[in-house]
Amino acid sequence: MRVYTTIAHYQKYLIRVRAKKQTIAFVPTMGALHVGHLELMKHAQSLADRVVVSIFVNPTQFNDPEDLTKYPRPLAKDIHLLEQLGVNALFLPTVNQMYPKDLDLSVPVQLDAWATVMEGAYRPGHFEGVVMVVHRLLDIVRPDILIMGQKDFQQKTLIAEMIRQLKLPIKLIAHPIVRESDGLAFSSRNVRIDPSRRSDAVALRSALLLAKKSISTHSPDQIKEKCIHIIADAGFRLEYFDIVDHQTLRSIQSWQDTETPVACAAAWLGEVRLIDNEILSE
Ligand code: AMP
Repeated sequence: MRVYTTIAHYQKYLIRVRAKKQTIAFVPTMGALHVGHLELMKHAQSLADRVVVSIFVNPTQFNDPEDLTKYPRPLAKDIHLLEQLGVNALFLPTVNQMYPKDLDLSVPVQLDAWATVMEGAYRPGHFEGVVMVVHRLLDIVRPDILIMGQKDFQQKTLIAEMIRQLKLPIKLIAHPIVRESDGLAFSSRNVRIDPSRRSDAVALRSALLLAKKSISTHSPDQIKEKCIHIIADAGFRLEYFDIVDHQTLRSIQSWQDTETPVACAAAWLGEVRLIDNEILSE
């Protein structure tokens, strides 16, 4: 696998790939790779000639400085996993490469309606950072296909909207949530869950599954109330539980409001913030 730490160096690779008329599928990550990330990369391998992965712990999307400092960075292990998988190239930029002081990196999109609800309401500035970094990465990596996880459903929806508004020639593919054997969504944060509370963590998933089971018999509000109880009873401190339209992210009051309702939740278990979601109509 080739590792590129500068844009200039990566661009030489890009020219070679383009000369061979090969396609690129791109998986942006913040490292600390787990099975969930690797599944996205395997999916990428089935869709394009080359798979490019980036590892960049993006400072502009962390609204909590402590979260940024605590973010795990096991780079040697990550590189080993990528090599084992047969990923073609790793883009591993520095903050200075990504955000040079003399560049205007603002992105001309209107995403407030997507960026201010749910995650955006609890993590002010988070999505401005996400949009800036993904836009910058796409501009450098120039993929044909971008693969993102349904685990970060709001992020994926926001990036889909950015691609739509900017008319970027990139196909966004959402990969389903990859879960541990007990149903907890794989996350770099799971290693920080206190082992004595690990079994409580599954309640987030249980609540979402109950929501899915209940759509023919209960209203969105009734489901929200039940799920909020389940999550709180397991000892979580809930931030939000909402049922939204999959595209607009608007909270729904009745099942008639959307063709594809998605239940989304974020909650703290001790010191660890977990998010999860479920498409209710599948
Ligand atoms: P991150 O490194 O957390 O920024 O994640 C990089 C990409 O992997 C994002 O598109 C995430 O949505 C995706 N991802 C992370 N965990 C999972 C998971 N458990 N299932 C599916 N996709 C995931």
